[in-house]
Amino acid sequence: MPSTLKIKPKRRKAIHKSKSRVPLKQLHRRDGYGSLTSCGKNYMASDTAIGEDEQEELISRDGTDPLSLEATFDQRQGGPQVPDLYTTPPPIKDSLTTDTSISQDNTVQQCLPHLFASGKSLLSVNAHGVPSLEREGHVDFLHDAIENARYIPYDAVRPWVLYWSLTAFSLLGENVETYQQRVVETLSVCQNLSGGFGAGHGQLSHVATSYAAVLSLAIVGGSESLDMIGRRALWRWLGQLKQSDGGFSMCVGGEEDVRGAYCSMTIISLLALPLELPPNAPTRAHGFTSFLDGLPEYLSRCQTFEGGISGRPQSEAHGAYAFCALACLCILGPPHEMLRKYLDLPLLISWLSSRQHAPEGGFSGRTNKLVDGCYSHWVGGCWPLIEAAIKGSQPSALTITPKFGSLYNQEGLIRYILSCCQADDGGMRDKPSTYPDAYHTCYTLAGLSSTQYFSYYNGTRNAEAGYPLDSAFQWGFSKKSPQRDGNEEEELVDAEDMLVSLHPIYVIPWGAVERSHGLFSQKTGF
Ligand SMILES: [Zn+2]
Repeated sequence: MPSTLKIKPKRRKAIHKSKSRVPLKQLHRRDGYGSLTSCGKNYMASDTAIGEDEQEELISRDGTDPLSLEATFDQRQGGPQVPDLYTTPPPIKDSLTTDTSISQDNTVQQCLPHLFASGKSLLSVNAHGVPSLEREGHVDFLHDAIENARYIPYDAVRPWVLYWSLTAFSLLGENVETYQQRVVETLSVCQNLSGGFGAGHGQLSHVATSYAAVLSLAIVGGSESLDMIGRRALWRWLGQLKQSDGGFSMCVGGEEDVRGAYCSMTIISLLALPLELPPNAPTRAHGFTSFLDGLPEYLSRCQTFEGGISGRPQSEAHGAYAFCALACLCILGPPHEMLRKYLDLPLLISWLSSRQHAPEGGFSGRTNKLVDGCYSHWVGGCWPLIEAAIKGSQPSALTITPKFGSLYNQEGLIRYILSCCQADDGGMRDKPSTYPDAYHTCYTLAGLSSTQYFSYYNGTRNAEAGYPLDSAFQWGFSKKSPQRDGNEEEELVDAEDMLVSLHPIYVIPWGAVERSHGLFSQKTGF
């Protein structure tokens, strides 16, 4: 039995009972990539037929009834047309079979029905075969996620559950201010007097949970939220994380990688903390005086021979580390100065381009890995920063040519997200064979949002005036309508499926960034 299928209780949609459906005996097992030489009909042609009784019980792991392929077939006769690029396996295939190639083949198999038929009724896809955003289902799923974060398994990720849920709520246009009081109460017990936030009461401060906590407080807003942050203690604690090679560790005595650099600089810039190292910072012994000392050079050394960016020098390139490094460089200065100076941009673009798969359309995180919805942000979020580095400073959205395209295939990403990542009962997932969670809901929606807006840098050089990291706050955005490839007249996503825009560096709503920066940049001292 194919790995994507398992026995589940019967669940039938009305369309499966239509008299026009393909006879059950024409529906066969799919046992290998080799049978998927083209879309649609080849799913119906195989020599390993299964009995009707067995077919009645076969439902894919993600809940999609394989019988829905008959709906696909009907769509392709007269319904929405999905381009071959998203419905046809790659024409050139390496003949060497490995565990990796088998996993890739299985992934294509599980995605194709969703991409060309969506596994849904004809009413739930638009004229281009793109499913609608199941907004209400995702909101309900997130309510469950945030309400259940009190359970023991969440003990080590409590601030993260808040951040993922609140960011996803924001993307969906929900009012998150109602969570203000509860967020303050939850995070107040995570904050340590010695600085920083742990995952829960009495837990060691960690820069990842501190990042999630600070951003969560910024999202819900209100003076009580932001004022509860012990900025002086946080500054002193961050000083302990600064390393002699320019980077940051994740906690005192913990591992060092680019997450530490991005999370630390996000906190420092958003809260307008002094850039001068605290007097007792260990790296003062190495001659460092500022959090910025050696930092861009450290990030530069994380770029690998492939062009991607690894967690630390001489390691493997990874999409999430790429975003952390790019966003951190964009905190340190204008993108067209920092990215061009410290990275081999053409090589990075080449590596990032290789992360997008066809026919799936989504991104993978590493070479020879599978597509995964969360990289819609980790890789997808790199593109606006790179495009800003290429275009330079844009005084306003009006200067952006309407025909300005994208460095990646946005249609492919949109189709992957809306066709493959939406779980039937709400929430977003890695791929059809997996279950949804708050993490993937957050980052998959963030990736979808980034296809709906232009983000552009609109600053001018500012190093001598104001806060040295002001360039991070000199970005703007404008709405765009994702369109069919090569057809400017056809919008790919329906208007009701537009999301809220997020700041491309801080990955929270623009208003939350402005509110925090506005409050703390006015303060003198702690
Ligand atoms: Zn993932």
